[in-house]
Amino acid sequence: MTTLQPHQFTCPFCGNKFESQMVASTNSFGRLHSDLYKEAEGLQPVCYFVHTCASCGYTGYEGDFQPQSFTPVFKGMLEENITPEIKKVRIGTNGNYYLAALCAEWRGAPFAVLARIYHMGAWCCRIKGEKDNERFYLEKAMFYFERALEQADAPNENKAVYTYLIGDIARRLGDAEKAKSYYGKVEQALKECGGEPGIGDFARRQLTSPSDYF
Ligand SMILES: [Zn+2]
Repeated sequence: MTTLQPHQFTCPFCGNKFESQMVASTNSFGRLHSDLYKEAEGLQPVCYFVHTCASCGYTGYEGDFQPQSFTPVFKGMLEENITPEIKKVRIGTNGNYYLAALCAEWRGAPFAVLARIYHMGAWCCRIKGEKDNERFYLEKAMFYFERALEQADAPNENKAVYTYLIGDIARRLGDAEKAKSYYGKVEQALKECGGEPGIGDFARRQLTSPSDYF
């Protein structure tokens, strides 16, 4: 069973102290989604991995709340784009993956990290049954996985899994042709770059009988 525990955070940007729920324990007894989300039994932990300071809107994973300094560019972007917006609403401290992605982008995070944040945001929306929001996040995740693949310095061992995920996200977004094309490239990526062989099995399976769950 997944259990949550309140944790006190200190915002490294504005100094505000706030409480947010953190995952204290979880499990992986649930289904495996075809885009590699492993469900837990009971409460799903994925919506509790990012935290938002309700005073300024700074958002990130637990590790992003370490004391740190921010560039003037980051400061300007947060203060102009996020803080005024969140002042208007009562914002939850958990699961704001869009704000997490913006903060990560302004801190200079690589494409692969942004892809992962948006993808987790899509899973969070899927669990909540928010289909339109899930699509928004999947489109963003696909965009950044594609950018991550194009980068010359992308780690080789991730190429096969990124290729597979672009295919599976395209399929979930209704682009069957793009999905087939990317599933079809997974084997080659594994041969050339290595990676987890199981991803090749998933790709073959999705080419012959596509499914949302394994
Ligand atoms: Zn703050």
